[in-house]
Amino acid sequence: MSNIDWQNLSFSYMKTDYNVRCWYRNGKWGELEISSDEHINVHMAATGLHYGQEAFEGLKAFMGKDGKVRLFRVEENARRMYSSAEGIMMAKIPEQLFIDAVIKAVKLNMRFVPPYESGAALYIRPLLFGAGPKIGVSPTDEYLFVVFVMPVGPYFKEGFKPTNMMISRQFDRAAPLGTGKYKVGGNYAASLKAGELAHSKGYAAVLYLDSKEKKYIDECGPANFFGIKNNTYITPDSDSILPSITNKSLIQLAKDMGLKTERRKVPLEELETFEEAGACGTAAVISPIGRIDDIDTGKTYIYSKDGKPGQLSEKLYNKLRAIQYGDEPDPYGWITIVE
Ligand SMILES: *Cc1c(COP(=O)(O)O)cnc(C)c1O
Repeated sequence: MSNIDWQNLSFSYMKTDYNVRCWYRNGKWGELEISSDEHINVHMAATGLHYGQEAFEGLKAFMGKDGKVRLFRVEENARRMYSSAEGIMMAKIPEQLFIDAVIKAVKLNMRFVPPYESGAALYIRPLLFGAGPKIGVSPTDEYLFVVFVMPVGPYFKEGFKPTNMMISRQFDRAAPLGTGKYKVGGNYAASLKAGELAHSKGYAAVLYLDSKEKKYIDECGPANFFGIKNNTYITPDSDSILPSITNKSLIQLAKDMGLKTERRKVPLEELETFEEAGACGTAAVISPIGRIDDIDTGKTYIYSKDGKPGQLSEKLYNKLRAIQYGDEPDPYGWITIVE
């Protein structure tokens, strides 16, 4: 099959050939299983369905000019899923098992890795949830780990362009001492209403303030926030932010480019002082922010007037993409070649 229109892929579910599964039962992980079934037969009392024992990951595989398929920082995703599992008391997946499952899922679906020229990639979605029956509130002792993949389009179909964000004090994504730092479905359920409101008003996402004091910037729905000023890359520090691997990588690349970097509390007022701002995550690498509207106070923060991204944001974006596709060297060992 190659009737996939690589140029016009979007970020939506597509059936591929196989997925990889692994069960945790009787206190241990089993063998990796290969399935071509898109459905999972789950117990109706599974804790993943009732009490939100569920976590996921998201990463990509890229086809290089040299025909090699590259995974970006897969060990980091393995560690983060381990931390999410710990955070909501699920069975933890050993790092190597996670990596093996991801590699297996990519290899089994090689024909779905988009060609280099398309600028598209293979999106990988690891998923872990409580599958054992339990009706009293406590962690179960049976878990299912699944990895499936699908080709997704370049995030910026019309090029790398700024989008607008909304601030509102009417919603929180995560509680101050809650699960914001884990990649769990519950945080996403909690953000759907705010996200839909933002979309209905024409914004790309909600920029959340810290949920305790509403004084500091937290993150942008499914992406971390950064601002750039005085040759410094600044990103919020908070216990309820999901530690983005893209953000961590951009901090390193910013340093390499001679920028200073700071991870600290970012007061709301500081938005006024940034020369550039962006949201970062696996989906888009960087989504430059053109404008932020605080819909409660009516205040507006503008970072782009001409529809163009900031220069440093663009430089960082190009650098990270070049490493991911293998166009530039990988000095930090971020790439795993799938062979
Ligand atoms: C996944 C995610 C991100 C981005 O993390 P990356 O590792 O860069 O993809 C940011 N915020 C939230 C809430 C997320 O779930």
